[in-house]
Amino acid sequence: MSDVLVIGAGMAGLSAALRLAEANLSVPVLEARNRVGGRIFSERVGGCDVEMGAEFIHGTPQETLTLLERYGLKHYELDGEQLVYDGKGNLRQQEEDSAADESPFTLLDQMATWSDTHPHRDLSFAEWLAQEQISSNDAAGAIGYVEGFNAADHRVIGVRGLAMQQRAEDEIEGDRLFHVEGGYARLPEAMLDDLQKRGVEIVFRACVVAVDWSDGAVAVSTGEGRAFSAKAAIITLPLAVLQRRSVQWTPSVEDALHQADRLRMGSVCRVSLVFKQRWWAERRHPKMSFLFPQNRNSNDGTPRFEVFWTPYPNEQPMITAWAGGPAALRFADMSQQEIVSTAIRNLERAFGLQPQALDSELTDARLHPWQEDAFALGAYSYIPSNALDAIEKLTLPLHNTLFFAGEHTDTTGHWGTVHGAIRSGVRAAKQVISTLRRET
Ligand SMILES: Cc1cc2nc3c(=O)[nH]c(=O)nc-3n(C[C@H](O)[C@H](O)[C@H](O)COP(=O)(O)OP(=O)(O)OC[C@H]3O[C@@H](n4cnc5c(N)ncnc54)[C@H](O)[C@@H]3O)c2cc1C
Repeated sequence: MSDVLVIGAGMAGLSAALRLAEANLSVPVLEARNRVGGRIFSERVGGCDVEMGAEFIHGTPQETLTLLERYGLKHYELDGEQLVYDGKGNLRQQEEDSAADESPFTLLDQMATWSDTHPHRDLSFAEWLAQEQISSNDAAGAIGYVEGFNAADHRVIGVRGLAMQQRAEDEIEGDRLFHVEGGYARLPEAMLDDLQKRGVEIVFRACVVAVDWSDGAVAVSTGEGRAFSAKAAIITLPLAVLQRRSVQWTPSVEDALHQADRLRMGSVCRVSLVFKQRWWAERRHPKMSFLFPQNRNSNDGTPRFEVFWTPYPNEQPMITAWAGGPAALRFADMSQQEIVSTAIRNLERAFGLQPQALDSELTDARLHPWQEDAFALGAYSYIPSNALDAIEKLTLPLHNTLFFAGEHTDTTGHWGTVHGAIRSGVRAAKQVISTLRRET
């Protein structure tokens, strides 16, 4: 019997396993895929480092930076011009757009203040906008920002969670963005290498389907017919996988799953477009970073990408198209080819180009269907109104034997991120270590 089973080799699972291995505990890691990293998924395409999952280090989170340093991985800060397009072919720098462009952030500050002064109340973002009688124009900008960034539905996401998240981001300079050189996946790959050197077994293609447990004992079976046992388990299954009840728990863990049900898994549709060259440089925008619409979507139900970015100052000829929240779900019935075409058409329109003008520039495109991926079932979590206590409850161990981790269990305002996932894994590992030490 091992000391601890870790289920899932994303950043939460790998971080937990590393901490447990450092404490000299035996810790097999069971992973359904044939790779580590989970929702970090990078690929080299046409000379570009394409990210299909997590891409940015948001700010300067110590847990991520310490790992990068430990493995000698470099990162660079994103920079360049943020542009706004009007849909008629006019692009201008965002700074020139001052009043309108500041309003989402001004509104979010206003919302955070409301949250501070009403400590016992929570509302959805939509309810809060209505209560504060925010004009429809200002509200549209803020909704676009909140839904795009949080992959969330503004009618569901709660203002308490948003306010806590905003404060947490401010503490780590969350408005600065960084990329890992060579792709984010280099980090989980380095962690895998480290774990294997420490003798930790990572079992790939091990899809956990059943967990039988009692005080101090866990027996896990996989869909491939393998069995594993340990004194405790750290479960880093993504939120939506827990909610889908893909795993059979004996005895039931329904109380914990009920808390998981109170949270939401957000949706994202992102496409990386790889071009022959940086054609936008010849169109007077060599330093383009982000490209935002002047007016946020008209909410007419049309599948549409409105936000784009490049990896500038990295000069790889690549543009990412992004839709988050309800806007992402509008692509649900489309083929990958149709989604790529939509991204290209929307980009042409933003630049005021003729339809198909960019077809001959495109060399490749990548996207990953996170909503349909059985081992993710969505992009990342967010907190509905009146559900902030659910994450705290999910961090409580079950009989000191089952410990939940994963980005959706971060209690510090960093859920939905890679550093939140790392934090949760380290937290769960510490809980296990102190439990096992008490028992010996
Ligand atoms: C499109 C997209 C963009 C994002 N952008 C960013 C970003 O820019 N910055 C940022 O910080 N975060 C971003 N995120 C979020 C970030 O990727 C996640 O918060 C983080 O990687 C989650 O780590 P985790 O370990 O909690 O979960 P995961 O990475 O999902 O790990 C869970 C693991 O469990 C495995 N698993 C699932 N089911 C089973 C089973 N039955 N048995 C065994 N194993 C199983 C999965 O295969 C997976 O490897 C993004 C996510 C997406 C999808």
